[in-house]
Amino acid sequence: MSTIQRAYKTELDLNNVQLTACRKHAGAARWAYNWGLARKQEAYHATSKSPSAIDLHRELNALKQTDVPWMYAVSKCAAQEALRNLDNAFAHFFRRCQLKQQGKLRGKVGYPTRKSKKRGLGSFRLTGTIVVFPGAIQLPRLGRLRLKERGYLPTGGVRILSATVSEQAGHWYVSVLVEQAHAIPANRGPAVGVDLGVKKLATLSDGAEEPNPRHLKQRRRKIKRCQRAVSRKPKGSHNRRKAAQRLGTRHRTVANQRANTVHHLTSRLAKTKSVVVLEDLNVAGMLKNHSLALAIGDGGFGAFRRQLTYKAAWYGCRVVVARRWEPSSKTCSGCGWVDGNLTLADRVSHCAACGLVIDRDVNAAINLSKLAGSSSESLNACGEASSGYGREAMVKLAPMKQEPDTFSAPA
Ligand SMILES: [Zn+2]
Repeated sequence: MSTIQRAYKTELDLNNVQLTACRKHAGAARWAYNWGLARKQEAYHATSKSPSAIDLHRELNALKQTDVPWMYAVSKCAAQEALRNLDNAFAHFFRRCQLKQQGKLRGKVGYPTRKSKKRGLGSFRLTGTIVVFPGAIQLPRLGRLRLKERGYLPTGGVRILSATVSEQAGHWYVSVLVEQAHAIPANRGPAVGVDLGVKKLATLSDGAEEPNPRHLKQRRRKIKRCQRAVSRKPKGSHNRRKAAQRLGTRHRTVANQRANTVHHLTSRLAKTKSVVVLEDLNVAGMLKNHSLALAIGDGGFGAFRRQLTYKAAWYGCRVVVARRWEPSSKTCSGCGWVDGNLTLADRVSHCAACGLVIDRDVNAAINLSKLAGSSSESLNACGEASSGYGREAMVKLAPMKQEPDTFSAPA
């Protein structure tokens, strides 16, 4: 029996007083982050040294007495944790810089930027005395806040580490980070290869398919109309703000639908399979291809891999990631013959060597499933090396030389 850290997120049911208090806290956190960022940059240019979160918090406490007395209205945690986040943001940036130099990272290094109110009110984290009741949560300074869902947050047998309150399109959520005892269940399910795609969200090596609901595509017209309504209104006007809120609500609906589909799929895989083999898709690169971008973003590939990795650790499943540049689609799953002429338009692969006729995606998934036993260097979803719980094993997909299996194409 070991312990794991796990977050439980649920929606808050705030009254007007609490709403104002939450907005103040989020505002204070945002201000502290931006102020800290500016101070760090100033200090670095002057002395080539950057003050830590603790230094900055001390400085901010002095500043409260003169420049920012309104900070007294909110919990000190809001600013403190925001400055801690800023430190983490820099640590993340420097780590990624190093990886970039070593050539172990694809993508951006991510220098910390200012937080803008235009991009949402944001969030704040509180520590200290946090008590969970079946229908409410008690937080420092904010008091007892009602929850929209009863009984989801764990009330007993866990240690509460922190609570993060966040806003999205007018809805407020609390995410409670807890440390809880965890026994990894014995997972006796089969190993499976998963081929992610645009037409079908996922194809499994056992022939099962998960359709891609294409949530965004369905609602795109309405979103477009809302977006036009926003851009037609004068900047800074009340009507523009209201139109932006309507647009935000529409985006939120799509995001929730997408998250729901991906959560269901990843939970099912992690619970019922002992090993899941994925292909390392270059999602950021694929999003640059405009004809594919909408469909891929809509599928939530990045979220799929991230969720599968952490859920695998909960349910005793192992995730293996096959390297991207190996041709899992072009290799025959029966005999290992590589079809150099296969294009994206070919939905069925015909093997010239053994005569196997099989759905293209199932073929790729079977090739992936053959890597279930392998494990080597591991990378996380950001393309960085990772270790510990919920890690993925990274393997090289080599051309297979095996006796041909007897396989028939699914009808
Ligand atoms: Zn073949």
